[in-house]
Amino acid sequence: MNRSRTGVVAALGAAALVATLSAPAAFAAPAPAAEQAAPAFRTSTYAPSASSAEDQAANRQFFEAVMKSALKKQAAKPGIQVVTVTYNTSRAPSFRGQISQSTQIWNSSVSNVKLQETSAGGDFQYREGNDSRGSYASTDGRGHGYIFLDYRQNQQYNSTRVTAHETGHVLGLPDHYSGPCSELMSGGGPGTSCTNAYPNAQERQRVNSIWARGIAVLKDEGALTKVR
Ligand SMILES: [Zn+2]
Repeated sequence: MNRSRTGVVAALGAAALVATLSAPAAFAAPAPAAEQAAPAFRTSTYAPSASSAEDQAANRQFFEAVMKSALKKQAAKPGIQVVTVTYNTSRAPSFRGQISQSTQIWNSSVSNVKLQETSAGGDFQYREGNDSRGSYASTDGRGHGYIFLDYRQNQQYNSTRVTAHETGHVLGLPDHYSGPCSELMSGGGPGTSCTNAYPNAQERQRVNSIWARGIAVLKDEGALTKVR
């Protein structure tokens, strides 16, 4: 990825990419990137609010960083059909149960990408704590990403749904707060009573397509170092 661009330009590019990939009209939310400053870390929160507009560019950056990291490690595996994405939970000890459930949900829902815990650094990390913004996925756009799980929000909302939702960003899905509870990426939109922690058929299909495309790019270029 070209690091010489400014953060704003990079964000705009990422937003445009998101728009391009967002085939269903329902997912094509207005891109807020142009109005935003460029913080060191970009975030995308679980619940919509005035101070936490959804940030599709941040989602995209996080996902791209994870995919790049995961694909690089598998350079020596020609003919791979499934990409393994590793994560570390050492900074989210209270949420190990929810994280494990989220992993089971995703691994039983999609076929082209698998989540796997590691005691090493991993492609991304889970962290826990208190943050007025609630839970979010965050990246610095340079290959470092983590999912933050907020204590209070995880008491208000179904914690497994929050965890699986944020993990959905790692796998490439954007927020869609206006969606129903049956959608995982509607996040906090349907309210605190929503306990569904499973992606719907469209979300599953979309994740499979995204990762199949990543694998295809890898094969076309013949070298993982070229994957952006
Ligand atoms: Zn979200």
